[in-house]
Amino acid sequence: MFDSPSREDYPAVGDWVTITELDRERAVIHKILPRKTILRKKYSNKQESQIIATNIDVAFVIESVDRDYNLNRFERYLVLANDGNIQPAIVLNKIDLISDAELNLKIDQMKGRFKGVDIILTSTITERGLDELRRYIIKGKTYCFLGSSGVGKSSLINKLLGGNTIKIREVSHRTGRGKYTTASREIYFLENGGIVIDNPGMREVGMADSSVGIENVFSETITLSKNCKYAGCKHIHEPGCAVLNAVKFKELDENKYLNYVKLKKETEYYGMTELEKRRKDRRFGRFVKKSLEQLKEY
Ligand code: GDP
Ligand code: ZN
Repeated sequence: MFDSPSREDYPAVGDWVTITELDRERAVIHKILPRKTILRKKYSNKQESQIIATNIDVAFVIESVDRDYNLNRFERYLVLANDGNIQPAIVLNKIDLISDAELNLKIDQMKGRFKGVDIILTSTITERGLDELRRYIIKGKTYCFLGSSGVGKSSLINKLLGGNTIKIREVSHRTGRGKYTTASREIYFLENGGIVIDNPGMREVGMADSSVGIENVFSETITLSKNCKYAGCKHIHEPGCAVLNAVKFKELDENKYLNYVKLKKETEYYGMTELEKRRKDRRFGRFVKKSLEQLKEY
């Protein structure tokens, strides 16, 4: 604690640490080993970003075909993973709920939108795709599941565990008493030597300063933008914008373009200084106040 100037220097899920064991339930952490990768998220109403997990090699970005299916959300998770230097793979679960025709349509949509990202189709009911998922996980690598709650993360992990593995029990906060908080995450060691971290459902996935991730996920847009007439083109209404032109001629998916603009704006807001943010918020506050007065008069 003395050596930790910031919150991020504290141990996070996925860290490897050196410890001295005090008794069965307690230990002193001396050192965190250097982190290979860091996965961060940010709540849109808070300033700071937060570490979700460290040392992840592959992030399974998971959605289910029923109410949860959303390409923009996939893209958001892909940016987060990319920004943390983590290889993403898409998992689409509960495929037993739709017909093959519907499934093929979704596969086409995903392939069109996420080029070069592996897509694994699964059902924990029919067990379709589970072998492929198992083969994806290799010894010595660490994996996590990113997705909303209810999409089937726990069900899939249970299938991967198959009853033969050691489950590392989550550690409760300080008290060491029987009740374990649900906010914590768990780490599982699979029989084949792969490690899986179970992340809680994230209702809100905000962009931290994810400019690197955005450049990777939206590389098409970035390449196009080199041909924009103006160097600082924001690709919103500027004349001679190569990105808008590509959208117009259907060379660039319109939804992908819209999501790009949205995520870019978020990450730029995050990158602003505190002073800029306060100014912006104050301006907005004045605007709201004035509007309310006008409304009353009206
Ligand atoms: P988590 O919140 O992401 O961990 O999701 P759970 O694993 O708890 O699953 C949520 C619900 O979806 C449960 O009722 C599961 O039985 C159900 N479920 C999980 N996988 C599948 C699947 O492949 N097909 C169908 N039809 N239901 C599933
Ligand atoms: Zn442009």
